[in-house]
Formats: sequence, C-alpha cells, structure tokens
Amino acid sequence: MADIIDGRAVARQLDDKTKAQVDEMLAAGLPRPGLTVILVGEDGASQVYVRRKIKACEKVGIHSTEHRLPADTSQDDLLALIDTLNADPSVHGILCQVPLPDHIDTRLVLRSIRPEKDVDGFHPVNVGRLSTGTGGIVPCTPLGVMILLESVIDDFVGLDAVVIGKSNIVGKPVANLLLDKECTVTVTHIHTENLPEIARKADIIVAAAGAPELVKGDWVKPGAVIIDVGITRIKGEDGKEKLVGDVAFDQCQHARAITPVPGGVGPMTIACLLANTVQAAKAQLGVHEGETGNLYHDAPDRSMHSSTAA
Ligand code: NAD
Repeated sequence: MADIIDGRAVARQLDDKTKAQVDEMLAAGLPRPGLTVILVGEDGASQVYVRRKIKACEKVGIHSTEHRLPADTSQDDLLALIDTLNADPSVHGILCQVPLPDHIDTRLVLRSIRPEKDVDGFHPVNVGRLSTGTGGIVPCTPLGVMILLESVIDDFVGLDAVVIGKSNIVGKPVANLLLDKECTVTVTHIHTENLPEIARKADIIVAAAGAPELVKGDWVKPGAVIIDVGITRIKGEDGKEKLVGDVAFDQCQHARAITPVPGGVGPMTIACLLANTVQAAKAQLGVHEGETGNLYHDAPDRSMHSSTAA
C-alpha cells in the first residue's frame, strides 16, 4: 500500500511555523506582516479563493486587507492602486487574483507589483531568480509540491522526475525546483509522445495537467512518489459533482507515496502564500533568515502520513 501524503497535516505544520515566525517578529518589536488581496469583478470561484486567503491570514496573525473593485475598473485605475500599495510600508505582500477581466492586460498588472511584494511569485524577476537558483519568491503551488516531496524523500540527488504539464504557474517552476535538487527532470505536455513510457521510468511523478485520472497504474514504477496537482470537477456515477486529480489513485497503490485529491496539494497552496508573505515581510524589514529560522528546510515531521488507502 502506498503512503498517503497528508497535505492538510503538512499545511497545518507549515501554518504553525508561519505563526511562530509572526510571533517572533512581533516579540522583536517588528511590525505585523501585511497582505493585500485585490479582486476585480464578480467571478464566483475567485471570491471563494479570496475569502479563504483572507481567513487563513487571521489564523497565523498576518494583517490582511482586501480591495474589491468592480468588473469595469480601468487598467489605469488598477495600476494606480498597485502603485499606492507598492509604496505602502505596511503592505508586505500584494496578490492580484486572476483571472482578470478581458480588458485588463494580466501580464502588465502582474509585472507592476514590486518583486519583493509579489507573494504569488509570478513577477518575471522572481521567475528569473527561480530559474537561476538565486532565491526570490517561489510560486505557492510549486512550493507546496516541493514541501510535500521533502516530507517523504530525504535524498533527491540523481532521482528521475517527470513533470506532466508545462504551465508557468505549476509545471515549469516545479521542474526548476526539482533541477535545483539535482534530479534528472523530464517535462512533458499535451504533445509529448510515449508519455506512459516516460512516466514509467520516474522515481517522482508530478502531475499538473488538469486531465482527470490521466496517469494510470501501469504508468507508475513500483516505489515511485506521486504528487497529484490536478483538480477537476466531474459528475460522479451517482450524478453528484466530485473533485478528481490527474492520477488514477486506486490503481497506484504500488507507489511508495501519493497525494490524494482533495487533501493533497490543495491545502498547501494557501499555507505557502502565508509563508511567502512572512518571508517577504522579513526581507523588506531586513531580517535575515538565520535570525528566525528557515521556513522550508526544517527536517520534516513524517508521522502524519498514513499507510492505509483512503
Ligand atoms: P494549464 O492548463 O495552464 O496547463 C496544463 C498543462 O498540462 C499544459 O502544459 C498541457 O500541455 C498539459 N496537458 C494537458 N493535458 C495533457 C495530457 N492529456 N497529457 C499530457 N499533458 C497534458 O494548467 P495549470 O494551471 O498548470 O493547472 C494544472 C492542473 O493543476 C489543473 O487541474 C489545475 O486546476 C490544478 N491546479 C491546482 C492547484 C492547487 O492549488 N492544488 C493550483 C494550480 C493548479
């Protein structure tokens, strides 16, 4: 039986560390880290995500503010708001929820956030730092993937990793992070031929395609570690909607460890946003990591993963 990697438990652990860092900062007389979330328009899913992010801030002691703007907000007005937030020293992280309405150039908006405050890690400066292994803010979902992998793997050097999906927000950053760990990385996508054959060689499979149950049991080498990033809402046999990942979970019990959907990568994304906000605040306040401990590279506590199939 594969170990089930409990994303909720790992996220809780990360939240505890983040909260401890906030407490240390306040005890040292530093200001409370602040995150501002901008939401343009009425997209239902975005409203839910923003609400969750704001609520999560409260849990760890991050001060959060929210700017809800109407769907017809002009690009200039949005850029002016970001300018103001860029200059506000009490705002350490700025997140502009995507998708933005069609009349707004998303890339321009994301580029206008100061890289030090870009807690989503989407600014080209942060992307460049990630791809050159020179620090910067790591996008939340890829960071969550790496923390989950670190919770089950001690030594990444020389492992074969296959990343399915090459998006800018998941596949490419995950591939770079795995390369930094000295894995041999193959990035695959919709036009890749022989994907099952490529996947079968992998010690690590990160599936981020958005293709329900794409990865079948016979694509997986015994003992591989599987991180399933995909989330798709489908109608089950009972007619009820359910969430499924990119991996046929039940067929992959010969893996060493696997994330479930839901309850795997999903909970990590918000926990990593909070961690990134505190990291950004500390960098802006001139606090060096060594003074308050390193967020991501503490020895993982593995006791939370269960070895029984869900
Ligand atoms: P995307 O659509 O931007 O990219 C998908 C990638 O997968 C593309 O590179 C495409 O070529 C590849 N792909 C699609 N179908 C494929 C197939 N059949 N075989 C091989 N490759 C295929 O998607 P994204 O934004 O990277 O998201 C991917 C999935 O991860 C989605 O299900 C999304 O909902 C999920 N996601 C989850 C979280 C989270 O917090 N858990 C965060 C971001 C994305």
